[in-house]
Amino acid sequence: MWIVPEREIADLMTREAAFNAVEKVFAAMASNDAYNFPVVREAIGHVDALYGFKGGFDRAGLTLGLKAGGYWPNNLATHSIINHQSTVFLFDPDTGKVKAIVGGNLLTALRTAAASSVSIKHLAREDAKVIGMIGAGHQATFQLRAALEQRSFEKVIGWNFHPEMLPNLEKVAEEAGLPFEAVELDGMQNADVIISITSSHDAILMADQVSPGTHIACMGTDTEGKQEVDPALLRRSAVFTDEVAQSISIGEAQHAVGQGLIKESDVNQIGAVINGAHGGRTGADQITLFDGTGVGLQDLAVAASVVDLAIEKGIAIEVDF
Ligand code: NAD
Repeated sequence: MWIVPEREIADLMTREAAFNAVEKVFAAMASNDAYNFPVVREAIGHVDALYGFKGGFDRAGLTLGLKAGGYWPNNLATHSIINHQSTVFLFDPDTGKVKAIVGGNLLTALRTAAASSVSIKHLAREDAKVIGMIGAGHQATFQLRAALEQRSFEKVIGWNFHPEMLPNLEKVAEEAGLPFEAVELDGMQNADVIISITSSHDAILMADQVSPGTHIACMGTDTEGKQEVDPALLRRSAVFTDEVAQSISIGEAQHAVGQGLIKESDVNQIGAVINGAHGGRTGADQITLFDGTGVGLQDLAVAASVVDLAIEKGIAIEVDF
């Protein structure tokens, strides 16, 4: 069995490897070669922690396993470690023997960034120039860095519920040599691509604050009750997602479907666009919306990729188990 500790991931995993792994597994999901198992998420009644499992099996990539972890709200204050903690376990699908244990914290950030990035590659207009960010927390910086690699963006604009966090976005824009401007939500009308990545429970972005031809990746809503955009925006858009079942239950589409504005059948798998089974964007004026809910197979795909890299570089720790 191989172990790849969390401390090694930053030097091993690249945005490119994460992108390729996620794009491939989304395609496998759409061709029914890979499927996610039901998610378990429990408030364990101890230190206010939320703990759970996300697992799945990719028959195409022969990746079987689960990510175990969750959210410990007091970690930073009490133990000086981050509140989100996760570990990925991979198993040999031929024998059931455990194959690898991999630190899952940085991988989660990279696989989430890769998802919106994959959606931009396949759905945004080729001539997109302005990227708008809603959210400026930990994950927003990862989303922005990955997104900037997908088009020749010329400007970053940003809005955040806590404006004092906007310098996080400005720093990433500066690193990429791009100007950054803080805007009001109406200013998002100037964006060609918008990423929302917040922990909001109410609609932030209204349908009339988005211009025709925009691509929006909604990445923050991954739980029942969370919400980032006006449900009417989904009615105005061609809607895509990682997994339809999650999109309509814990993703952004839960609200639009719940209010009868769109139907489950209006939500398309991004993997079908990657495979060529769905044509994707139909014109320069269409609004496309990607509802990125985060699936276990994404975690397994990036973990399998990092195990290969770690073995290749002699960094993986081999344990007789
Ligand atoms: P963070 O705590 O670092 O940042 C939270 C962000 O939400 C900040 O921009 C903050 O200003 C904003 N925010 C907080 N309260 C708000 C409110 N009431 N209204 C509007 N905005 C508010 O968290 P993070 O690590 O950046 O994660 C952001 C979100 O992304 C979380 O909700 C997390 O669950 C979600 N997430 C989704 C996936 C996925 O695969 N879809 C993966 C990882 C994280």
